[in-house]
Amino acid sequence: MTCALHPGIRVSEIFGPTIQGEGVLIGLPTVFVRTGGCDYRCSWCDSLHAVDRRFRHDWEMMSPDAVWQKVIALSGGQPVMVSLSGGNPAIQPLGQLIDRGHGEGYRFALETQGSVSKQWFADLDVLVLSPKPPSSEMTTDWAAFDACLEAAQDKPQMALKLVVFDDDDYAYAKDAAARYPQLPVYLQPGNHTPPRPGDEDGFIDMAGVMRRMEWLVEKVTRDRWFEARVLPQLHVLLWGNKRGV
Ligand code: SF4
Repeated sequence: MTCALHPGIRVSEIFGPTIQGEGVLIGLPTVFVRTGGCDYRCSWCDSLHAVDRRFRHDWEMMSPDAVWQKVIALSGGQPVMVSLSGGNPAIQPLGQLIDRGHGEGYRFALETQGSVSKQWFADLDVLVLSPKPPSSEMTTDWAAFDACLEAAQDKPQMALKLVVFDDDDYAYAKDAAARYPQLPVYLQPGNHTPPRPGDEDGFIDMAGVMRRMEWLVEKVTRDRWFEARVLPQLHVLLWGNKRGV
């Protein structure tokens, strides 16, 4: 049940355990809580089913307790990393869920574009900030981004994750890295054939994805950007555009 004291969490899907496919926690067994709704509309969003309000009939308003019971059931009650993703999970009230899970030995990672900050960021174990480059057709509000870092108070492990489709995105990634030299940087090539809602197992240009990966590796090494880590999306390599894996 949700009420004013215990606000509900808008959930798109809860699934796992599977492995984290991206960034700093790549390969780690994880249960995903994907929230519904986002304040962005990136041109290449690969999670439109959790963003576009046309799909809101698939979203469910759940109490923190109901979300927690589902996580417990999926993990068999054994503590595991819980990834809070979206959409933008930062627009949901997740503090209570995090407290509850911590009490039972679970850990929480959250990924957000850094447009909305919450006090409970400081309670996370891992905070991945993923500002969106020019190809997304979004504009980064760096003051809002800075507020996310301030809210986190250096408590969680933090990382910058940047999707790179082209030279402009690469330049943006370098600027972002220079702006936050204290954060480790993870680069990943974009998926230019993202899933379409309702057809998440549809065509993916895997050869094209691999070419972009090679292009990015070459660019980083030629540039001697030795602090950056270049990673593919592991779940895309394994399962293409399939959803819920
Ligand atoms: S911020 Fe993420 S979830 Fe939101 S529209 Fe962009 S890619 Fe999609």
